[in-house]
Amino acid sequence: MKISFATDVGKVRETNEDHLFTDEKLGLFIVADGMGGHQAGEVASETAVKVISNFIRVNIGRGLSIPTLIEESIFTANEDILKKAIRDSSLDGMGTTVVLALLNEGSVHIANVGDSRAYLIRGSTIEQLTKDHSLVGDLVRKGQITKEEARVHPKRNILTMALGIEGVIELDIAPIDFQKGDYILLCSDGLTDMLTDEEIRDIVLSSKDIEGPCKNLVASANEKGGRDNITLISILKDE
Ligand code: CA
Repeated sequence: MKISFATDVGKVRETNEDHLFTDEKLGLFIVADGMGGHQAGEVASETAVKVISNFIRVNIGRGLSIPTLIEESIFTANEDILKKAIRDSSLDGMGTTVVLALLNEGSVHIANVGDSRAYLIRGSTIEQLTKDHSLVGDLVRKGQITKEEARVHPKRNILTMALGIEGVIELDIAPIDFQKGDYILLCSDGLTDMLTDEEIRDIVLSSKDIEGPCKNLVASANEKGGRDNITLISILKDE
């Protein structure tokens, strides 16, 4: 596997509320995009990656199925964020998205909450593996707006599911087929608000240098305005 990753504050925001986690040995890759004022978003996204990665590291191989392991890790992170917000009123209302990939014994599982995404790039195709838990995501699924209209919609930041926010967390976790030459890309919406799926694919496929595509994707998102924090992890299956 060839892993590359980057996180960047962008061109407009003063702080970076995204967090990422990579552990090639554990096979775990996470992107989280926090929200909430006064650094609370940073706390939420950092808590999510820490709790999820610790939970999976400690409990993997202890008899839980992979989907259950992932589910429990995300539920634990959600409870932790809610508890932190109750204990400290300056963190009230904080939340975070999360998208993760777990590569274990030949299988790859993807899970997400919110509008951070996972993509599969294979040959010249790009496929979004995750469902956006957002108002505009619902409108796209109902056929009321196109994916392109969603990217620039004024209400594109309204999430229908997030960690740390009251409400039910429902996860779709299924194994995906990951073949030689495929890329999995995990990213926050600071990338996908700025670049179309096709632009992302073209940059990934033209980034053949040893550093991988993440630096070029960040540079392109910033050239288009960099309205938000940009965070991404690229995983290339090269054998
Ligand atoms: Ca964001």
